[in-house]
Amino acid sequence: MSKSFFPPVRTLMGPGPSDVSPRVLAALSRPTIGHLDPLFIDLMDDIKRLLQYAFQTANALTLPISAPGSAGMEAVFVNLLEPGDKVIVCQNGVFGGRMRENVERCGADAIMVEDSWGTPIDLAKVEQALEQHPDAVALAFVHSETSTGVRSDAKALCELAKRHNCLSIVDAVTSLAGIELKADDWGIDAIYSGTQKCLSCVPGLSPVSFSERAVKRIKSRTTKVQSWFLDMNLVMDYWGAQTRRSYHHTAPVNALYALHESLLMLEEEGLTASHNRHASHHQALAAGFEAMGLGLPVASAFRLPQLNAVSVPAGIDEAKIRQLLLQDWNLEIGAGLGSLAGKVWRVGLMGHTATRQNVIFCLSAMEQTLQSQGAGIHVARALPAAQQVYNKIAPGAA
Ligand SMILES: *Cc1c(COP(=O)(O)O)cnc(C)c1O
Repeated sequence: MSKSFFPPVRTLMGPGPSDVSPRVLAALSRPTIGHLDPLFIDLMDDIKRLLQYAFQTANALTLPISAPGSAGMEAVFVNLLEPGDKVIVCQNGVFGGRMRENVERCGADAIMVEDSWGTPIDLAKVEQALEQHPDAVALAFVHSETSTGVRSDAKALCELAKRHNCLSIVDAVTSLAGIELKADDWGIDAIYSGTQKCLSCVPGLSPVSFSERAVKRIKSRTTKVQSWFLDMNLVMDYWGAQTRRSYHHTAPVNALYALHESLLMLEEEGLTASHNRHASHHQALAAGFEAMGLGLPVASAFRLPQLNAVSVPAGIDEAKIRQLLLQDWNLEIGAGLGSLAGKVWRVGLMGHTATRQNVIFCLSAMEQTLQSQGAGIHVARALPAAQQVYNKIAPGAA
């Protein structure tokens, strides 16, 4: 006989999902109502307003796609590209590679600008590619590369795109609510995110936003969008303002209650306060790791506060450490991906997970576990180093 599933309470400090606050989980369990119920339509309008705040945009076409971040990525590419289009795609980790896959599956041509994993996108190389390919229609890049813990200069990249008459397509799955992101000020034309990273909502939704320029391009397509489900021309009739709200698909009603609650929490805290919180706890965590003797391979100027790559000490089986952390401490951290597999851990401080309590807990659990496996680390130094950071940035605060 199968039984009900009762998951343990873990602390999620990997690359996502992050810890979901009890407030968001409670919202999820409220009574389901019809997705065309007038009250639900009011909720959709409020979600749109809150997403506009989160993305810092006035774009009318701002909504959560009813599927995870990967679907937001796909929605952006299938709507903006037609067969034969040329797109400059930046790759400095896993997710840039997925952008390329999407471009090619649209029958478009991906011109790759590659940088090594662990470094940001090189603006000079991008400019060169834009000059060499004046017929490119878009520049696509990942703002926060979750696979390596690197942030690239989204503002400068969008300026380059604009100067070369390209649309800018930005992966902000891990950025949203974690670091500064200004869709309108930076001139972003298409942006997508996810709910399970710094929004700390349940996985499975993808907020997206399209500028007027992007919408014009979608409306003037000569070929149909290859995906019926993700065709914004159709989704607009469901999510658009003053539309008939005609049936397109059944919105994930309860998941949208959860998203609404998490966006409310973001608005209550304030975007800047949320960015500062991520930055402070990152500084404390990084100081702790360094005091322990663990290396942080990403140069400090380009580190993502919400995703920390940490080098695995020589002779240590990285998977064993993760397994022990999960088993003995109910603590999840992430493994390295691609060329960084086996070489780094990825320690997330996303959304609701970014607290002093979790920083201290993670440093303690990792120190104990690494020591138990014979790693040559400095013991009893990490917590004082982290505390020193807290004393400096927010004396007396928790
Ligand atoms: C997590 C992530 C995605 C994919 O999101 P899913 O919700 O897992 O589909 C895309 N891009 C980046 C940068 C991510 O971190």
